[in-house]
Amino acid sequence: MKDVDCIFCKIANGEIPSATVYEDEDFRVILDLGPATKGHALVLPKEHWANLFELPDEVAQKGILVAKKVAGKLRDALGCDGFNIVQNNGTAAGQTVFHFHIHLIPRYENDQAGISWTPGTLTEEDKKEILSKMDA
Ligand code: AMP
Ligand code: ZN
Repeated sequence: MKDVDCIFCKIANGEIPSATVYEDEDFRVILDLGPATKGHALVLPKEHWANLFELPDEVAQKGILVAKKVAGKLRDALGCDGFNIVQNNGTAAGQTVFHFHIHLIPRYENDQAGISWTPGTLTEEDKKEILSKMDA
């Protein structure tokens, strides 16, 4: 399944050129045009799925293996000090391109990538509510 209006479908399937660092039958991994750090790459499935919740289990399984493999290759090639794997779903979570993708973000001591949040506090009320809603 492809979406004719989706830029990542076109990139993943080679209709639009990209800086490809890895490709197989099901995925293409490209360098992000607006990198958070040097080597920031995106794992793109060749089929169109808008987000994690639409993704078939088989694609999800393959996708995390591709992410692991290419993250290791980027780490070896670039000598980064750490690594973030980021995956945004929905506008509220920062997703801007609605074709599932996994961000591979090499991290360097003292880089300026702002991948962080201010920790809150898990209240007893929230904990009880969430555990009961999750049937956990
Ligand atoms: P997200 O905000 O999680 O949807 O991530 C979208 C990412 O795609 C951003 O990091 C953009 O810099 C990147 N991006 C958008 N268009 C392109 C493109 N044509 N080629 C490479 N990266 C892109
Ligand atoms: Zn697409």
